[in-house]
Amino acid sequence: MTAFVFNEPNFDDHEQVVFVSEPKSGLKAIIAVHNTNLGPAMGGCRMWSYMNEAAAINDVLRLSRGMTYKNAVAGLPIGGGKSVIIGNPKTDKTPALFEALGEALERLGGRYVTAEDIGTSPADMANVSNKTKFVAGLGDSGDPSPFTALGCFVGAQAAVKFHLKRDNMEGLVVAVQGLGHVGYDYARRLHAAGAKLIVADIDTAAVERARAEFGAEVVSVDAIYDVAADIYAPCALGATLNPLTLSRIKASIVAGAANNQLATADVGDMMRQKGMLYVPDFVINAGGIIKVCYEYLNKPEADVEAHVREIGATLTEVFERAAHEGLSTSVVADRVAEARFKR
Ligand code: NAD
Repeated sequence: MTAFVFNEPNFDDHEQVVFVSEPKSGLKAIIAVHNTNLGPAMGGCRMWSYMNEAAAINDVLRLSRGMTYKNAVAGLPIGGGKSVIIGNPKTDKTPALFEALGEALERLGGRYVTAEDIGTSPADMANVSNKTKFVAGLGDSGDPSPFTALGCFVGAQAAVKFHLKRDNMEGLVVAVQGLGHVGYDYARRLHAAGAKLIVADIDTAAVERARAEFGAEVVSVDAIYDVAADIYAPCALGATLNPLTLSRIKASIVAGAANNQLATADVGDMMRQKGMLYVPDFVINAGGIIKVCYEYLNKPEADVEAHVREIGATLTEVFERAAHEGLSTSVVADRVAEARFKR
């Protein structure tokens, strides 16, 4: 038999990996608790038609580790975890499936707290909550995306100040890829701060709205990499930063909400060598998890905004250290996170 978990490239001494099989509901899930040094592990539940179990294991190991880093660097009193349900979110969802997941979380006694993610919704999390209280982001106080957008905006401000030595966004050109929940709100803030927008989305209604509301220039989804801009803001897909796109992107700052922007880890250093400032994704896009965490821990809603704004200072620390130590911002952001969670 192959020992496939310990040998996985994404296995990183995870504290606990739990395989859940519940035949009545058909639930097949994997819960990965990466690290709880700072508090209970928190991270969403993804439902996906994985090609095979190995792909699901790989995903949950990678994503749970990422949550430890994101939560730590955001200064939250929580650790990192994630869960995946193996199944088709369009055809395989039932209330019983999510209740069975809730029972599994209950057995973990609060070491892992779930929330919605790709393929799951607040309604699914409501079903989880029938069986456990270890679930966050039930949607009672709305969508966390505006806080993610705020984090992106303060992150972009910090990057502009550090890299372009400017205190404002007036006249800067920002190429926004993706005008969904986060991208549109981020674009609104950039526009209000005097930036000029060039936008692309496969959703033509979204780009037309941005053209009407912000006077944005609209380009095709492929052309967004070639436009003359100061900031490239990826707010749609992961892995858009790779050697090919780097040869096309004119912007000297990358500051966007998308997860896993670097196609491979070495792209961070390629950007440094090209003189580009990469704003690490898991630092800049933590506004949403900050909001969800405050809600779960019953911390005052009024304090969320100030906490999200701290993303700016954290990023300035990352930029300064990276410049001083001759390292990529992505490597330094990892180190800042590690210093916080490896107590
Ligand atoms: P969303 O689904 O609301 O928006 C994504 C947008 O991208 C949509 O408008 C979609 O039409 C567009 N899009 C898809 N393919 C595209 C392409 N090839 N070119 C241009 N546009 C394309 O998602 P969201 O909640 O706004 O999240 C955006 C990104 O930020 C995702 O990568 C997400 O994982 C990440 N993120 C979101 C949050 C949050 O709070 N919502 C938090 C952290 C990270």
